[in-house]
Amino acid sequence: MQLVTREAWGARSPRATPERLSSTKGVKVHYTGDNVDPRLEDDHDRCVARVRQIQNAHMDGNGWNDVGYSALVCPHAHVFVGRGPHALPAANGAGLNSGHYAVCGLVGNKGLTKPTNAMLRGIRDAIEWLRREGDAGTEIKGHRDGYATDCPGGPLYAWVKEGAPRPDEEDEDVPEYVSVGITAEQELPPNEWVTITWGRDFSDSAHQHSDQGGPSILNGAAKYSLTASLTLRGLPVGTEGQLRAVEVHADDTADFGSSPIQDFIATSGDTSVLYALPADTLGVNRRLRVQVLQSGTATGSVVNGSAKVLYWR
Ligand SMILES: [Zn+2]
Ligand SMILES: [Zn+2]
Repeated sequence: MQLVTREAWGARSPRATPERLSSTKGVKVHYTGDNVDPRLEDDHDRCVARVRQIQNAHMDGNGWNDVGYSALVCPHAHVFVGRGPHALPAANGAGLNSGHYAVCGLVGNKGLTKPTNAMLRGIRDAIEWLRREGDAGTEIKGHRDGYATDCPGGPLYAWVKEGAPRPDEEDEDVPEYVSVGITAEQELPPNEWVTITWGRDFSDSAHQHSDQGGPSILNGAAKYSLTASLTLRGLPVGTEGQLRAVEVHADDTADFGSSPIQDFIATSGDTSVLYALPADTLGVNRRLRVQVLQSGTATGSVVNGSAKVLYWR
């Protein structure tokens, strides 16, 4: 379970000491009830901002003591501590708060409306955490059970009615796929890591190569495997070189170490090189790129190539 402490998400302090709750019958599941920006899925910083905004709305708009939920869960399965265990929530409605803790999934009735499997896993984690740490009973209900509201929305409520099952890990075993190719020759000066630019998408249904025509081929938290094949021209026979994959921050400000480096030696004519990374993980707000370096004395070029990424999230 990925628990985000109040300190870590920058929560404001409650106005007064929260009312204590010794135990509950269980947990009620909620959603935001309005528009949720779909870009949350690619940018976890937006999840954190949204949680802060919800707390502000509850404290400044509703005049509550604190955010109304016991916990909030983002599309990346992170469980943000709200009021937490053994504290009376405010989100279930008057008279209904001492019966159940309140857990909110960051989906709404517009924009992002369907929970990811990771979010369902995170809500399940939050429920089990409240049972363990807060003496929550076994009931799992929706906000609409016993209160006139659409909350938690169709998809989350359907899941609640099934008993809120932890998503089958096997459902997440089917990888998604990105395949890109080179469209223009790229210069390869000596002794310099050159980031490969991919001008063509062969397959990218989930828009991972989001800077289309740019270098990034996977965007955001995932397990992945990568292969890239390149054709290099103009390197004297015996020129040594290296290939690697690198992670960069989504806003391009920082470079985060590289995966294993693979060596090659130029052959006569064009040199074909293959980079293969069987398994690695990419962090939240990180992008994946491929780089090549040659240690000769003359400038060569990359004349052709393609990359394929299988990823799981
Ligand atoms: Zn609700
Ligand atoms: Zn998130």
